[in-house]
Amino acid sequence: MSKTTELQTLQSLLSPSEILTQNHDGYLQESIVWAQQAYQHPTLVIRPNSIDSLSKAVKFLTDSSLDWQVKTGGAGGASATDVVLSSRAFNSTEFVREEEVVYLGAGALWAEYYEVMERVAPEWTVIACRTPFIGVAGSIIAGGFSWLSGDYGCTSDPDNMLDAQVVKLDGSVVWASEEPDLLWGLRGAQLGLGVITKFKLRARKYTQKIWGGMILIPKGKPNEQTVARGIASMDTGVPLPKVSMFLYTLSGMLASVLGGRGDDVLVLHILDANGEEHGRKLFGWALEIPGAVDKTQVLNMQGFAKLQAAAVANMGKAKAWGQAITMARVTEQVVLDAFRWLERIQKGGGRIAKETYFLFELFSMRDPTTPSSESAWPRPRDARHVFLTSAGCGPDAGQDEVEQTIQIGKNALKEILGDKYEERYIDTNALDEWNDLETIYAENWKRVVKVKRKYDPKGRLRSMPAVDWKEVEERLGA
Ligand SMILES: Cc1cc2nc3c(=O)[nH]c(=O)nc-3n(C[C@H](O)[C@H](O)[C@H](O)COP(=O)(O)OP(=O)(O)OC[C@H]3O[C@@H](n4cnc5c(N)ncnc54)[C@H](O)[C@@H]3O)c2cc1C
Repeated sequence: MSKTTELQTLQSLLSPSEILTQNHDGYLQESIVWAQQAYQHPTLVIRPNSIDSLSKAVKFLTDSSLDWQVKTGGAGGASATDVVLSSRAFNSTEFVREEEVVYLGAGALWAEYYEVMERVAPEWTVIACRTPFIGVAGSIIAGGFSWLSGDYGCTSDPDNMLDAQVVKLDGSVVWASEEPDLLWGLRGAQLGLGVITKFKLRARKYTQKIWGGMILIPKGKPNEQTVARGIASMDTGVPLPKVSMFLYTLSGMLASVLGGRGDDVLVLHILDANGEEHGRKLFGWALEIPGAVDKTQVLNMQGFAKLQAAAVANMGKAKAWGQAITMARVTEQVVLDAFRWLERIQKGGGRIAKETYFLFELFSMRDPTTPSSESAWPRPRDARHVFLTSAGCGPDAGQDEVEQTIQIGKNALKEILGDKYEERYIDTNALDEWNDLETIYAENWKRVVKVKRKYDPKGRLRSMPAVDWKEVEERLGA
């Protein structure tokens, strides 16, 4: 069958409202991805709105020769040349109080979850990811990092993600708990095992009076030193319950939108669910820095998510190569080295200087309560922080600039961390083709390969990053 005929046959299986060609309003919205270089201008976007049409489409696509990919929020760069299958229609949020669980549509954006929960059960929460415009499906299978992860672990941990409904590539529909390999393979690995339609997530009671938000601190070496020292002094190795924070930098122009005074700033984006009094004491060292702008307030979880909502404006606006690494401790020196690295990049000027950044996600994780063999991503033990770098350039950058940006993105963590860099600490939510998956999945690697080959024997659904799994299996003799 020719590609044109295959595309026509696929459309004949769906209703007109489930098909978006390049001329439709909504085509871009359903297909756009965060890092522009990942976008592949799909010929067709389909948005099945029932399990029945989804399973017909999945089976057809698997048996076809079409290049296709499943997408939810696009933050992970899911795209394809022929067909993007958007799971956005599966976006319901159902709280079942008696079971203390939320059945959450895998195609929802986290903003939709927060909005419903604030209305129906504001005193309850799941281990919800922080950024409101990312997809539920992609972010959970990428591990799932929440403001609550320092206390309760990642969203995909067995304690938090209890089950998932999946349309397998043969079109059959299962709850993954009926097939332990499948459920296991969804915990922290974007393997491409099928299309998830729904998660069953543990709900927990949580305070609605959370203190935090941004503290904007004028950039400059003395303040960098104070911030680095302040952070290191909080990281004593003793758990810091209900506290989490980001550290990043912003240009004066962006900072002024947030209430800054026009200078480039360091941003401490903090959350303290122990309340305002506790938070003001804990972060006194930051609030007292001369010139610091205190943008903190008391909010609930939805309020916190909304603080990050404006970043959606950057979706698809730049090419970007990110890497994230887990860390057990953050020292003063590492924070200072990150500032120096960024300073070097920014000296080069141009679009790369504007689009390249680092982000410390501090007190943002803890060990799962289950052994590392119970999730596909074994996740380094004792990790408490995530450190992320992203190198970017403009969407129309030439080949040389693109190559330069890739090299910056690829080497950033190694450059900053020096001999403290170890590939096995790399976080699975921003993997690239240069990462050594065997080292990262460590003792679980053989099972990862087996599970991928079991659920996608023809290699039809791309994993993140794309891998020739048949070749890996043959090499391993798995
Ligand atoms: C700006 C930004 C903010 C972020 N913030 C957070 C955060 O707060 N917490 C956090 O944990 N992570 C965060 N991340 C990382 C994020 O979790 C990953 O990028 C994740 O892949 C995004 O999922 P998505 O659905 O938006 O992306 P997509 O690009 O749509 O999908 C990513 C992967 O998931 C697969 N997939 C999508 N939908 C389905 C489905 N229904 N069934 C099966 N597979 C599917 C895709 O095929 C692809 O392999 C952030 C990333 C960015 C760029």
